[in-house]
Amino acid sequence: MKFSEMPYKHIDMNEAKAFFEKLISDSKNARSGEEQFELHKKYYVYMDEILTMMNIGSFRHDVNTKEEFYAKEQEYIDEIRPVISQYVNDYKKVVYNSPYRDYLEEKIGRVAFKNMELDFASIDEKILPLMQEENALINKYDDIIASARIPFKGEEYNISLLRKYLTGNDRDDRKAAWKALSDYFLSVTDEIDVIYDKLVKNRTKQAKELGFENYIELGYNRMMRNSYRRPQVESFRKQIKESFVPLVCKIQEKRREDLGLDEIKYYDNEVYFKNGNPAPTGTPEEIMKAGQEMYRELSPETAEFIDVMIEGELFDVLGRKNKKQGGYMNYLPIYKVPFIFANFNGTAGDVDVITHECGHAFQGYVTRNEEINEHNDITMETAEIHSMSMEYFTYGWMDKFFGDRADDYLKMHLRDSITFIP
Ligand SMILES: [Zn+2]
Repeated sequence: MKFSEMPYKHIDMNEAKAFFEKLISDSKNARSGEEQFELHKKYYVYMDEILTMMNIGSFRHDVNTKEEFYAKEQEYIDEIRPVISQYVNDYKKVVYNSPYRDYLEEKIGRVAFKNMELDFASIDEKILPLMQEENALINKYDDIIASARIPFKGEEYNISLLRKYLTGNDRDDRKAAWKALSDYFLSVTDEIDVIYDKLVKNRTKQAKELGFENYIELGYNRMMRNSYRRPQVESFRKQIKESFVPLVCKIQEKRREDLGLDEIKYYDNEVYFKNGNPAPTGTPEEIMKAGQEMYRELSPETAEFIDVMIEGELFDVLGRKNKKQGGYMNYLPIYKVPFIFANFNGTAGDVDVITHECGHAFQGYVTRNEEINEHNDITMETAEIHSMSMEYFTYGWMDKFFGDRADDYLKMHLRDSITFIP
């Protein structure tokens, strides 16, 4: 089925409530581990449906934030998401405290139980209104950023499309583009400051109501950091400072020499070559086609994956007005397919969508038949292994996108990857 043909169904919260009430009661009364696990599979089926609808609704809002129907649905999804988390939490407490815990641990894995502990500490009925407000604030911020209209050189650009000039070859143009971007942010600074202020207060309040000192511990829980915490992150940061920052300083110095500048300024960031950064040579359609050829050659698995993605129209990558900024991959459990959202802007970043976001999507595709949903509860750091690895796996195909500047792209990519870490 093509993405555009997938039906969207408004989530009925009475139905959700009834489903979880019955599930909780049935699960409590299960007479064996097998019986309880069968009920758990019903939970998977129901959540697959809910997540598919949420992801379709959010996606259709993201591609055009001014479209009224899905803007309302997005507001609704923001409201119900915490309530559903609460239902899930109540249900998982039954699973966690099950007399058949050993059997269930064997089935869904011990890590899942560790993650439940993090969830139990992070969600509570008393903070639901705060969680709803938090979602609404984030959505409001995204909408402000998505609706940016930045006048530059007689045209109007959104932030993604302006990036071409922010990293462009002409230094005066670049400086002017940064000024235009800065002017835009100054024009909305009052609104953004209020959102930021409210978010900080909101999250601190959530943390305190849950018994944390501040948002940091709660934030770690929400990122499912079940095997490392602040001390490990602090130590990692220290290593980055000692080992990586000196290397990045060398790269920056080399960049300054290559660009022939006396001093590197903020508007010179992310510019690597005197003759400009390598950019894809083709149209967006040609980039997509080159991507398809690349994945067909890379492996039988990626060949199957890319054909499914393209046939299902599971990409929305063209930069447009009112489209949410940035890029991401998400997944539609009932159709067992990932989809990719991005904003092509004519820079090398477009190719990163084909490598990086497709790396995420390929992971989703490869694990589509995994029966245990918890096995796909990967964290951001795990997910980035899939996506960033794909950037390197595809090094041999970059001439398809950059022609005779493929080598420049590889140099830029490697330097950028290193610079990114600090
Ligand atoms: Zn990523």
